[in-house]
Amino acid sequence: MAETSPIEQRPEEISPEELERRDFEKKWFNPESASTNPENTSLEMLGYLKSDSLDKRKMRLFTIACCRNIWHLIKDKRSREAVEVADRFIEGKATSQEVEDALEGAIDATYDAINVTGSERQENMLSSWYSTRAAECPLERLNPDYSSIYSKPAYELQSVIMNTMTAVSPLGSSLNEINNKARVSEAMFQADCLRDIFGNPFAIEQPVIDPTWLTANGGAVPRLAETIYNERSFKDMVVLWDALEEAGCTNEEIRKHCQGDGQHVRGCWVIDLILGR
Ligand SMILES: [Zn+2]
Repeated sequence: MAETSPIEQRPEEISPEELERRDFEKKWFNPESASTNPENTSLEMLGYLKSDSLDKRKMRLFTIACCRNIWHLIKDKRSREAVEVADRFIEGKATSQEVEDALEGAIDATYDAINVTGSERQENMLSSWYSTRAAECPLERLNPDYSSIYSKPAYELQSVIMNTMTAVSPLGSSLNEINNKARVSEAMFQADCLRDIFGNPFAIEQPVIDPTWLTANGGAVPRLAETIYNERSFKDMVVLWDALEEAGCTNEEIRKHCQGDGQHVRGCWVIDLILGR
């Protein structure tokens, strides 16, 4: 163990690994400093992660969050069902048969989206195809037919990003101001979700939960965290901080996360840490 912290070292003593860690950490929280094109933000952030060691549950929750953010575009009920089943699967509330059926339905929906005819085809085909394709992502890794694709780590994360980004472009992939605005806004949401779910993957020390916070005040903290998770009532993150503080928590990272204006979704690192997920 080195006796001096990296901060106290002179620049020439900093190892290349430490320089890379600092660089990734900076870009993770300030992607605008790294990207020349804001619509690539979320995809570039994936590149900083060691995606072969990512938690599978969190990966799936990210794909679900991306799909839920374009819910208005996912019109086919088979595609919506796939996302719902993926959500239930994570909670241990969906059988493998349900998963198989839901994925089959979602794949059929994607095929059907290509075959739309007439004027609707012109206007909606690209958006509906990409949105149905995105809805397959939360279940994909469970499909043996995709096993070769999954030799590539985090394939479904890249896939859901690219498909949702194109789905929100009203005119498909053509470059124009409206499309660009929609894609940038989607990329910013996804970047926020990556930070919410994976926290700071480059931190030297990860925040830990003191067990006494969980038992204080009759277990108020885990009870509230559970409710927020189950009901997706993330507006109550500030209330969760109040309960944590009352239980004796003084961790700045946790406070900033609960009180900040960033996005929270299922998989939020603070909620997961409290619930031990
Ligand atoms: Zn969060």
